[in-house]
Amino acid sequence: MQTRYARQTVLKEIGEAGQRMIADSTVVVVGLGALGSNCANLLARAGIGSLRLADRDVVDWTNLQRQSLFEEEDANQSMPKAEAAARHLKRINSAIRYEPITDDIHPGNVERIVAGAAVVVDGLDNFYTRALINQACVKHGIPWIYGACLGTYGNIATIVPGVSACLNCLLPDVAQATTPPLSCETFGVLGPVAALVAAWQSAEALKIVVGKQAAVSPQLVYVQLWDNDFSLLPMTRNAECTVCGQRKFELLEQGNRLATASLCGRDAVQIMPSRSFSMDFDLLRETLSRILTVEENPFLIKFRADDHDVVVFHDGRAMIFGIADPKAALSLYAKYIGG
Ligand SMILES: [Zn+2]
Repeated sequence: MQTRYARQTVLKEIGEAGQRMIADSTVVVVGLGALGSNCANLLARAGIGSLRLADRDVVDWTNLQRQSLFEEEDANQSMPKAEAAARHLKRINSAIRYEPITDDIHPGNVERIVAGAAVVVDGLDNFYTRALINQACVKHGIPWIYGACLGTYGNIATIVPGVSACLNCLLPDVAQATTPPLSCETFGVLGPVAALVAAWQSAEALKIVVGKQAAVSPQLVYVQLWDNDFSLLPMTRNAECTVCGQRKFELLEQGNRLATASLCGRDAVQIMPSRSFSMDFDLLRETLSRILTVEENPFLIKFRADDHDVVVFHDGRAMIFGIADPKAALSLYAKYIGG
């Protein structure tokens, strides 16, 4: 065990003291797609003491091209990404405490998800959830590392509350941009770009964990891998920013979950059950099994109805694939699941 981190502790930037800080830290990875899964892999290998891994989705065949933690078996079994990631990472580094969370990140749980983190790493696919993470992290003074990639380019920004610009300084009101004009589904994403952005994010995370916050990039990183282009862009803090300047955390105060959300790049709609709807999961599985072919794993059931694949988690949250209209998705939910 002493030799496991030898190549890391010999680095003057980390050393034995840094390694102890790494082992004592909690890092949260939100979103376990291309960025999140690559980051989780690097951070687990580095020996982060506790890794909290949050994602709402299941592994799909289109993920395997770039989401380095997942295997064909995960896609065949529609395993939740958080559970699949934790299972693979345990085989890579069994000394770490893993906390897989299969849920949508929403105002009701985001502060709990980031609580106690030395740093939060962004592997998300939409700006609403990033804005939510930004507010939770600024409120609690937790650094977080924005990362994004699309096509052959990527961005990284390290956000240290009280020191650097926050996401809202850079992109005010970005929470409204729930449906980006471009998604990886239509635009594609080059696997190596995701790996590069994730490597940069992981390095930034490690700097923070070992107390070398002064070493993080004060600028926004832009990289275009196909055209060999790389630039550092200024990140200017806005003193009037409603989030980091005025400390108004409006998204956190919107306690209600959204009833539906389109999932970026998935041609799918997610349905959140209303709070009053309590579902008997076993009864649902039994009832559906009488009329449909129902597949299951310990976390969810999956079936095909009215030409759509449907995944239902134990808490009643569902994802309906091949559908864009939230109303049509809700009516399919009502027909087969209830609510
Ligand atoms: Zn700000």
